[in-house]
Amino acid sequence: MNILVINAGSSSLKYQLFDMRTESILAKGICDRIGIDGNLKHTPVSNGKPVFNSSIPLPTHAEAIKAVIEKLTCADFGVINSLTEIKAVGHRVVHGGRKFSESVLIDGDVLDVIKSSTWFAPLHIPANLMGIDACREAIPGVPQVAVFDTAFHRTIPDYAHIYPIPYKYYQQYDILRYGFHGTSHRYVSAKAIEYLGGKAAGTKIVTCHLGNGSSLAAIKDGKSIETTMGITPLEGLPMGTRSGSVDPALVYILANLGGDKPTDYALDILNKESGVLGISGISNDFRDLETAAGIDTNNGEMLEGAPVNERAKLALDVFCYHAVKFIGSYIAVMGGLDALVFTAGIGENSPYTRAGICRLLNGIGIRIDMSKNGCRCGGKFMNITGEGSIAKVFVIPTDEELVIARDTIAIIGDF
Ligand code: ADP
Repeated sequence: MNILVINAGSSSLKYQLFDMRTESILAKGICDRIGIDGNLKHTPVSNGKPVFNSSIPLPTHAEAIKAVIEKLTCADFGVINSLTEIKAVGHRVVHGGRKFSESVLIDGDVLDVIKSSTWFAPLHIPANLMGIDACREAIPGVPQVAVFDTAFHRTIPDYAHIYPIPYKYYQQYDILRYGFHGTSHRYVSAKAIEYLGGKAAGTKIVTCHLGNGSSLAAIKDGKSIETTMGITPLEGLPMGTRSGSVDPALVYILANLGGDKPTDYALDILNKESGVLGISGISNDFRDLETAAGIDTNNGEMLEGAPVNERAKLALDVFCYHAVKFIGSYIAVMGGLDALVFTAGIGENSPYTRAGICRLLNGIGIRIDMSKNGCRCGGKFMNITGEGSIAKVFVIPTDEELVIARDTIAIIGDF
């Protein structure tokens, strides 16, 4: 049974087609620059056919989906013979609001609820909806499932998700800390529980999803009880270009510098010009920052004699420092720690960042094996726990698309 997974952004649409009998990827790809000019990169994985990578006009998401389906089924680049081989579509939807604590089959009512969440994520939800509409048009009658980034965090208790502002905003407007990257935190925490022996009850795990957007979560008994992101993905850790948590009055101070669009100016600075890019002035990409700071990105060691850009080094230090502040508080609220998990682009690939965070946790007894940490995970699980550590330290590659495909199968059943 084949499941198409769609992750639609405002100007891009990523896809993977899974054969769920073996959970293997048949093809994957990305439509870029939708609404601008358009490019499609399509990679057949299962049959050795060539990669298609070319500019093609993609004025809307509907054209993008049509192009994807054409490539999936055509003779030269295809992996299936006809559309009937796609049993269902799973969509990543960035915000499920207060209503959705798990994935759902999309119908008119579900679409209405998703639409009503638009004001929480005005850039992402319309794009997600365009992806859903485009699939409904291109493959009518094929069931579609929504998998929400926020759903896994709906187990966070009231006292942790409520903002200390007047209660009416919570009651009337659903303003609360939702958290994001839930699909990733759910996947890697479930894997960590397997490596800890398979029983969720009693486990205390901190998952670190460190990518261009980064968030941490505290997972107790297999359930999310706290996470760093809030009502939007701006709260929490400093990130590639996002500030993370700052004094809220800073918005006002920045807005006063913003001329005739004060709020947009302040939010643009905090979302697009801050984080490690803002501090370093060099890049939001950790590879660039490590290289500028004289670090060997392969093993995280300092390169002898290499010049060290101090602001790049400072940006990396700030990132690790804030991560540790959150990790420490999560260990406190859970009353201990069984496993610290690193995942996503930086978590999986940056030995320097993992070592930087764990070095600051040395004082509370968390240790890593530096030679194991210096290895490339290459998409595989690594146990980098050091001698005498009070908790395991794992590197677990995330796979949000597989979770979406699994949820989709589970929901459609024998549809
Ligand atoms: P997102 O999905 O949020 O866009 P990813 O999870 O793909 O992000 O992570 C992207 C980040 O991963 C980039 O900032 C990049 O710096 C970092 N990254 C990828 N490979 C490496 C590496 N070898 N060393 C350090 N950082 C890396």
